[in-house]
Amino acid sequence: MNVLVTGGMGYIGSHTCIQLLQANITPIIFDNLYNSKASVTSRLHEVTGQELAFVKGDIRDKELLVSTMRQYNIDAVIHFAGLKAVGESVQKPLEYYDNNVNGTLVLVDAMREAGVNSLIFSSSATVYGDPHTVPITEDFPTSATNPYGRSKLMVEECLTDFQKANPDWSITLLRYFNPVGSHQSGRLGEDPQGIPNNLMPFVAQVAVGRREYLSVFGDDYATPDGTGVRDYIHVMDLADGHIAALTKVGDRSGLHTFNLGTGNGSSVLDMVKAFEQASGKSIAYKIAPRRAGDIAECWADPAKAEKELGWKATRSLQQMTQDTWRWQSENPNGYPE
Ligand code: NAD
Ligand code: UDP
Repeated sequence: MNVLVTGGMGYIGSHTCIQLLQANITPIIFDNLYNSKASVTSRLHEVTGQELAFVKGDIRDKELLVSTMRQYNIDAVIHFAGLKAVGESVQKPLEYYDNNVNGTLVLVDAMREAGVNSLIFSSSATVYGDPHTVPITEDFPTSATNPYGRSKLMVEECLTDFQKANPDWSITLLRYFNPVGSHQSGRLGEDPQGIPNNLMPFVAQVAVGRREYLSVFGDDYATPDGTGVRDYIHVMDLADGHIAALTKVGDRSGLHTFNLGTGNGSSVLDMVKAFEQASGKSIAYKIAPRRAGDIAECWADPAKAEKELGWKATRSLQQMTQDTWRWQSENPNGYPE
């Protein structure tokens, strides 16, 4: 089976390519390198021993998408490409709607033209807004509080309407909780440009000396230690979730929605402690005001994915932090240019 992986040079996409190859599925990467580096291909080669096909292109380029899908006899698409920084999305809403919403519409149109009708979409737990209770099941109400989240929600709604009108299509919405960690080789990992927005890469950069201290955004939430609680999931577990979705429902027509999380909540201070243990470094932190738009707690009920996909996250918090540390300490400045 040949799978077009849009955004395959990025953090989650590159790790998913490794697991695709492991499952004897051939990934063809389609990425414009807006938020990733070309050297990812040599790392993928190093880790998998295989040469991956890479097409440099933008998902808003329909002609290039159609010709790529035809050239490589694509059977299904896993769609990671998009912009993902919440704060930036507030400053640049048009760019976010253009890349994430328009980009997805162009992609689906190209798939239709190329006769490909199986799609897996990277959605996010952000579509649950501020949930009334935890754990969160897939039937919880959805809402958005910023343009990034709204773009994910809009895409989910567009794809839902499109699938209704085209019942022979298989469309899977995967709602990720908080992906962290790296491939165990230490050769691939998360390489944010500029100051990291997310907790784990920020903590890792403090540990390696690139940042002075972590600002903990709020310690007065109604949580056990007052700091925000999230469902951190190892990126390799997340990658496995895509293989499970592709092989279990990728050829089954319908709209399929799954949470990909562990079902466990950890606080900011839990993560700091786990990271200190994994790295042997102490992480300096200061309590700072709450970050606008943050919620107190969010974790998944992952039972549906286990029941229907036979998938369950297996990697521990210790593995998440150890693998992050291996990647960060061996590649303190991320991927080479
Ligand atoms: P990433 O930025 O590392 O990877 C995205 C890739 O898409 C990059 O390589 C980038 O160059 C490429 N890209 C962006 N716009 C493109 C375009 N118009 N055409 C072609 N390529 C383009 O991000 P990631 O963390 O790997 O996230 C992958 C997907 O998962 C995104 O859609 C993101 O919104 C979603 N997601 C991420 C998280 C997270 O915390 N990392 C959580 C929930 C959902
Ligand atoms: N967080 C923090 N300091 C940071 C980054 C994040 O205290 O520099 C907290 C944030 O308030 C939230 C948790 O860490 O409670 C996870 O934030 P992240 O941005 O990684 O993911 P989110 O769940 O917001 O998508």
